[in-house]
Amino acid sequence: SSDRGIYNFAAGPATLPESVLLKAQSELYNYRGSGMSIMEMSHRGKEFDAVIKKAESDLRSLLSISDDFAVLFLQGGATTQFSAVPLNLCMPEDSADYIVTGSWSVRALKEAQKFCKPNVIWSGKSEKYTRICSFDEIPQTLGAKYLHICGNETVQGVEFKDFPNPMNKSSILVADMSSNFCSKPVDISKFGVIYAGAQKNVGPSGVTIVIIRRDLLGHAQPITPVTLDYRAHADTDSLYNTPPCFAIYICSLVFECLLHQGGLEAMAKKNEKKAGKSELEKKFIEEAAKEGMVQLKGHLSVGGVRASIYNAMPLAGVEKLVAFMKDFQARHP
Ligand code: PLP
Repeated sequence: SSDRGIYNFAAGPATLPESVLLKAQSELYNYRGSGMSIMEMSHRGKEFDAVIKKAESDLRSLLSISDDFAVLFLQGGATTQFSAVPLNLCMPEDSADYIVTGSWSVRALKEAQKFCKPNVIWSGKSEKYTRICSFDEIPQTLGAKYLHICGNETVQGVEFKDFPNPMNKSSILVADMSSNFCSKPVDISKFGVIYAGAQKNVGPSGVTIVIIRRDLLGHAQPITPVTLDYRAHADTDSLYNTPPCFAIYICSLVFECLLHQGGLEAMAKKNEKKAGKSELEKKFIEEAAKEGMVQLKGHLSVGGVRASIYNAMPLAGVEKLVAFMKDFQARHP
C-alpha cells in the first residue's frame, strides 16, 4: 500500500513505483557522488551516457528487442508520433491503412490525413467504440505502406490482445502502445514501429519511446522536420538534440524495477489479476440489474459499487441486495 496515504488511479501521468520515487529523491541533489543533479548534467557526459545506455538495454531485455530494431527516447508525446509515423513511412501520395477503435486512433488518423492518404479499413464508431475488431475480418488495402492501430484505447478501454504476423513486406504494423506499453510481453518482431508516451506504465511525461525496425529508417519525406526524422535520432542514439534527460533517468529506474519484479510475464500476471477484479465488478452490476436492482454503479469519480438507501428505499430492497451479494460471493469465491 502507499506510504503517501492514497491510491492514484489517474490515466496518465500515472502512479509510479514508490521505490523508484524514493531512489530518485535520494539521488536528486547529488547523483551518485557526482556533486550534480542528473538535471544539471550534460547529456553528453559519462553519467548520463550510462543512464540512457542502461535504460535502452533494460528495455531491450524486458521486451526482448533484437538489434534489428532501434530504440529511441524522444520528446513531443505520442501525439507527435501521429505525424512522425506517416512522415517517415510514406510519401504524400502513398496510402496507409488505419483501424479506428476510439479517440486516440481518430486523432492519429487526422494527423495522417495531412501527410499521406490514409484509408479507414475498420471503425468501431457505429458501435460507440465498444469492441476491437479481429484482424481476419478486415482486408488490408493493396499497396498501403503500413497498418496503424492503437494497441489500447485509453478512453474507451478496448485493447488488442493479439497481433497478426506481417502478411507481406508492404504491410508494416504500427502501434500506439501508450497505455499498454510494458504491461505484458509483446512479440516485437511482428511490428514495424511501436510508440508510447512514457507517462502511464514506465515513467513521467516528457519522454516518448519509439521502437522501429532499422530498415524503415531513412525514408522520411523531404519536408520532415529533423526532430521528427527517426533516422536522425537513431544515428545519434537519441542524442541528435538535448533529450529529456530527467524523464529518461526515471524510466531507467522503472525498467530496472520491472526487471527486479520478474519482467513483463510477471507484470502481465499481476495486471490480469487486477483486470479480473474489475471484470467481476462489472458482472456484479450486470447480474444485479437482471434481478431488478439497478443504479448500483459507483460515481464516475470513484468507480466501484454504491447502494444508496435514502428514505424511500424499502427494507425489502436492501434484504434482496444483501441476499444477492451473498449469493454472488459464493459463486465467485
Ligand atoms: N495515445 C494514447 C493511447 C494515449 O492514451 C494518449 C494519452 O493519454 C496519447 C496517445 C497522447 O499522448 P501524449 O499526451 O503523450 O501526446
